[in-house]
Amino acid sequence: MRKVRRTVPAPDDLAIDVIGVPSGTDVELDLRLESVMEGVLVSGTVRGRAVGECVRCLGGIEQGLDARLQELYAYADRARDDGNEDEVRELQDELIDLEPALRDAVVLALPFQPVCRDDCPGLCSECGARLADDPDHRHEVLDPRWAALQLLSSDPDVGTPGGTGQNGLHHPNDLKDDKKES
Ligand SMILES: [Zn+2]
Ligand SMILES: [Zn+2]
Repeated sequence: MRKVRRTVPAPDDLAIDVIGVPSGTDVELDLRLESVMEGVLVSGTVRGRAVGECVRCLGGIEQGLDARLQELYAYADRARDDGNEDEVRELQDELIDLEPALRDAVVLALPFQPVCRDDCPGLCSECGARLADDPDHRHEVLDPRWAALQLLSSDPDVGTPGGTGQNGLHHPNDLKDDKKES
C-alpha cells in the first residue's frame, strides 16, 4: 500500500452546466494505492474550488469541493481475460490514468442545483431584480377591484354604459370570425 498526496492543475471541462472546477486551478489529491489481486485499487479524496452560478438568482458562487474517489486499475492481462475491458480501467506500464476517474468523482460531487445560500430568494418574477440585494423589493399591487375601475376610466368606450361599450367588446370577436371564414 502506498499513499500519494499531490496537487495537480484541474483538467479542462471538469464541470457540469452550472458549476465546475476552473481548468488549471489547484486540485488536491489524497490517495491510497493498494495492491490487490486484480491490480491496483485507488481510493481517496479530491479537493478543489468549484465556481458557478446560483440557479435561483444567477449570482456567482464559489464553494469547496470534496469528492470521494475509488477506482480499480486492473493489470492489462487480467482485464482482457474478463472480456469486459471497456468497463475496467487498466494499468498502463505501471502508470494509471487518473483523469477519467477524477472526472467521474468530481462530476458526481458537484451540485446539480447550486444555490448561493440555502434561502436564496431568487429574482423578482415581475422585473428580474435580485431580491437578496433588496429585501424590501415589491411592486405596487392594486386591489383587483380598483384595477378594474382604472381600466374602465382609461378607456372612454368601455366606460360609457350601454351601446358603445358593448361594441368595443364584440369587435375583436367579429374580427376573429372573419379570419376563420376567409
Ligand atoms: Zn442565489
Ligand atoms: Zn421587481
